Amino acid sequence: MIVMKFGGTSVEDAASIERVTEIIKARVALRPCIVVSAMGKTTSRLLQAAQASAAGDARTTLGIVADLKARHASEARQLIKSNWSAFDFIEQYFAELKKLLEGLAILGEVPPRGLDKILAYGELLSSAIVSDALDERGIASQLVDARKLLITDDRFGGASPLFDIANAKIVATLAPLIAENRVPVLQGFIGATREGATTTLGFEGSDYTAAIIGAAMDADDIQIWKDVSGLMTTDPRLYKAARTVKACSFAEAAALTYFGAKVLHPKAIYPAARKNIPVHIYNSKLPQATGTAISATAPLCKNAIKSIAFLRPVTILKATIETISEEEQIFLPEDSLKTIINTMIKRRVTPLLTAVSGLNTAFVMDAKALDETTERDLLNDIAKFTSASVERDRAIITLVGAGLAQNARISGRVFNALEAVEVNAVLHGSSPIMMNVVIAAQDVEAVIARLHEAFFADFDREVFE
Ligand code: ASP
Ligand code: MG
Repeated sequence: MIVMKFGGTSVEDAASIERVTEIIKARVALRPCIVVSAMGKTTSRLLQAAQASAAGDARTTLGIVADLKARHASEARQLIKSNWSAFDFIEQYFAELKKLLEGLAILGEVPPRGLDKILAYGELLSSAIVSDALDERGIASQLVDARKLLITDDRFGGASPLFDIANAKIVATLAPLIAENRVPVLQGFIGATREGATTTLGFEGSDYTAAIIGAAMDADDIQIWKDVSGLMTTDPRLYKAARTVKACSFAEAAALTYFGAKVLHPKAIYPAARKNIPVHIYNSKLPQATGTAISATAPLCKNAIKSIAFLRPVTILKATIETISEEEQIFLPEDSLKTIINTMIKRRVTPLLTAVSGLNTAFVMDAKALDETTERDLLNDIAKFTSASVERDRAIITLVGAGLAQNARISGRVFNALEAVEVNAVLHGSSPIMMNVVIAAQDVEAVIARLHEAFFADFDREVFE
């Protein structure tokens, strides 16, 4: 069997869902299990509705709910003529949603538990519509409630599966359906605690659902259908001549997604890699395109790197350890280093990059994960035994490829491309397959263009398209 996951843009309207049904129809013989995201933008609209309601803005809340309902009903009407269960679901779900949002207005806040319940409606709605659309086109589907299978802990907003329980339930529910040649359709992103409270796996979590299901079912393939033709040599919005990377390894994909490539949810790689199940990235708007195959081994490639990712804004925290405190207390550098790291753990800040050289330390952190108070508190704590400072509006550029490990001439080419750019740090060696460069956020476009020209002017047609 295979798992096919369709992202928000792949199911954003009737025409897109129509295309999705054709893509599935062409692959019924592979015995697919379908995982869907909410229709494009629905999750963020639901979040806005929840926030508006808690803030007492009933007008905005009701406006969003009315828009969402009209949109889902009208797209469904274009797709589904004879089978009506999706329309019942739409009525039922919007009635429930309204009640929950009213509850938030009374509470005056958005508790994580309540938010998960609200956000889940995006996927509940899209999956009901896709399932009916398949049935109407002669593909026998079965709508499955992911909350009955994907049992998680109770970290609302970012729950983790309880694999022992979840895997058994996934197999017990899906295997018989697939054996009967039915196409299960279930929601990505959502799950439930053992007690049945709805949870979510974190934003963009549908890829993770697909990987969890694929691993539990020992799938032959996990297909992620999106609106781009796979993993690219760099973000095509920044650099138009970016190419598709036809094949890469799990390790390369993990490095790229960790450092900002939007190809796949970082968590989705591990379940697939553990079971050695290939992950394919395809474009639902261009189903005939080759896409990207991610598997255990990197293909031999004439290009040293496969792709260039970027992440911005990031903040650099620099701290030079002082061995004597203001109170004339003597510090050992190793104790200070330990204290810096413990302080970060206590403040729940995970640095993306760490460099320690003698008494000088630098930590690069995702600015979006670092709010103002946390940054100030962190700096205050650390400044007690270091001279600490922060530099904002930086970016990390990451070059990834198994070829980095073998090719000694890479650094020279990278530094050449960085000429005339102010560079904050270059890190290579902690991972043999990647190199990170920290620069000013506004230099990203120029540096990516120069690196792309340096590394992909000539490219291996076996691996790139
Ligand atoms: N609908 C969810 C989101 O927008 C999950 C997903 O699309 O993967 O974050
Ligand atoms: Mg999405």
